[in-house]
Amino acid sequence: MKLATFELGAAPELGAVVGDRIVSISRAAPRLAADMIELISRWPQIKGEAEAIAKAAVDSFALDAVHLLAPIRRPGKIFAIGLNYADHIEESKMETPEHQVWFTKASTSTNGPYDPILIPKPMGFVDYEAELVAVIGAGGKHIAKDAAKDAIFGYCVGNDATERRWQHRVPQWSLGKSFDSHAPFGPWITTADEIADPHALGIRALVNGETRQNSNTANLVFDVFAQVEHLSQAMTLEPGDLLFTGTPGGVGAAMDPRQFLKDGDRVRVEIDGLGHIDNPCATEA
Ligand code: ZN
Repeated sequence: MKLATFELGAAPELGAVVGDRIVSISRAAPRLAADMIELISRWPQIKGEAEAIAKAAVDSFALDAVHLLAPIRRPGKIFAIGLNYADHIEESKMETPEHQVWFTKASTSTNGPYDPILIPKPMGFVDYEAELVAVIGAGGKHIAKDAAKDAIFGYCVGNDATERRWQHRVPQWSLGKSFDSHAPFGPWITTADEIADPHALGIRALVNGETRQNSNTANLVFDVFAQVEHLSQAMTLEPGDLLFTGTPGGVGAAMDPRQFLKDGDRVRVEIDGLGHIDNPCATEA
């Protein structure tokens, strides 16, 4: 299924995307779940009912008539891995890490799939990073790599937007990665059962229509399941936690001359089978 959080004038609702329409799960069965994290937590019990609601399509709207929000508005955790595609490691003039390099993005950095990425004043050095995002389902602690597939609820398209000056002027990246609006993802969660192999997906970023990144998740250094195994050695992964799984080569900071996002730009990130997000850039008010 494709599960989204959307607005149609009033409070946020949960929906199932079916073709070019969205069926409101919240209107059909408000008791099922108050938000996406609860829906993910209860999924084994309510999956059948959600599928029946999507099929019946009683409260159904044109997808382009609703406002899609970040599928999970306040994830418990957002973790992102650095230096995880060979060509991005090379353009960053770094070594392939022996251990997985993780940083956090603040849960307040989430953003909708089509909402503005804010460029901070006075001048922002904001860059894009196309990434496959894994959404934790059942989660747990000490998840073995061969069990990780079952711990993942689904996948999204994400942009690990980054303020490069804030990232690189200190050894710790989390602040430069945590600006408001700098974690757009979506446009919905595609449940894991619809993705035969998350390590065989074309991934691209386009700025104003120009292709900047063009790779495949087959090129991940540490694959998604190894990431789940590694992180869960340290902490309990919970329903709705997000893993940004790394970006391929082609970021603006590695171009010559360097290119940063500016007011009026559009960044589109697309992943085969998961759809696309498309965010305008706007100077922060
Ligand atoms: Zn990244």
